[in-house]
Amino acid sequence: MDIQHSQIKGHFFVIIGPSGVGKNTLQEEFFKNYTHFVFPLSATSRPMREGEIDGKHYQFLSKEEFEEAIEKKKVLEWAKVHDKYYGILKEALLKQLTQGFFVMKDIDVQGALALQEIFPSELLTTIFIAPPSFEVLQERLTKRGTGDEKEIQTRLETARKELEYANKFDHKIINDSLDKAYKEFEQLVLSHCK
Ligand code: ADP
Ligand code: 5GP
Repeated sequence: MDIQHSQIKGHFFVIIGPSGVGKNTLQEEFFKNYTHFVFPLSATSRPMREGEIDGKHYQFLSKEEFEEAIEKKKVLEWAKVHDKYYGILKEALLKQLTQGFFVMKDIDVQGALALQEIFPSELLTTIFIAPPSFEVLQERLTKRGTGDEKEIQTRLETARKELEYANKFDHKIINDSLDKAYKEFEQLVLSHCK
C-alpha cells in the first residue's frame, strides 16, 4: 500500500518524550474529551502487560514475526526501544488518515524522525513532552511502579539521549503542573484541527 498524500484528509499527531514524562496521561485525558480522535495500531515484540488486549493496545508479535513484518513493509516506521521492536502498522494508519480521522500516538524519537521524512508538515504535527527536570522524571518513573530498578535505570539512560532531540520537533511542552500542561497540549492540538 503506497502513501498518496493527496488522499489524506486527516492529520497525524505524534507525541514524543522520555518514558515517564506523562505522554499517556496527557493523551488519555485528551481521548476522553475528544472522542473523534483515534490512535493507530502499533505492533511490538515486548510481552503483553496485565490488562492489555492484543489487537487493541498493540498487536503483540514474536521477534521473528516482527522481523517478517519489517521485511514485508507492513510497518511504516519501526524502532527498537529497550531491545524490543515497536512499529506503526502501515495499512491501519493510512486507512484512518484517508478516512479523515485525527490520529494521535506516542512513539519513540527515532520513529518520529522517520515519520518526518514520510509525511509533509501539513499532515503531521510532532509534540515533544519534556519533564521540568531529570530528577522529576526519575521520581515519576519510580512512582508509576512499572518495571524494576534495572528497567528504570535503562529508561533513564534512554531519556538522557532523547531529551537532546527535543528541538527537532514542531512543539515542546514542559509537563510540570499537569493541569497547565494539559491545557497547553489541548490548545495546541485543537489549533491544528481547524
Ligand atoms: P509516559 O506515558 O510518558 O511513559 P505516564 O503518562 O505513564 O508517562 O506518566 C508517568 C507517571 O507520572 C504516572 O504515574 C503519571 O500519573 C505521573 N504524571 C504524569 N504527569 C504528571 C505531572 N504533571 N505531575 C505529576 N505526576 C505526573
Ligand atoms: P510501552 O512499552 O511503554 O508501551 O512503550 C515504550 C516506548 O515505545 C514508548 O516510548 C513509546 O512511545 C514507544 N512506542 C510505542 N509504539 C511505538 C511505535 O509504533 N513506533 C515507535 N517507533 N515507538 C513506539
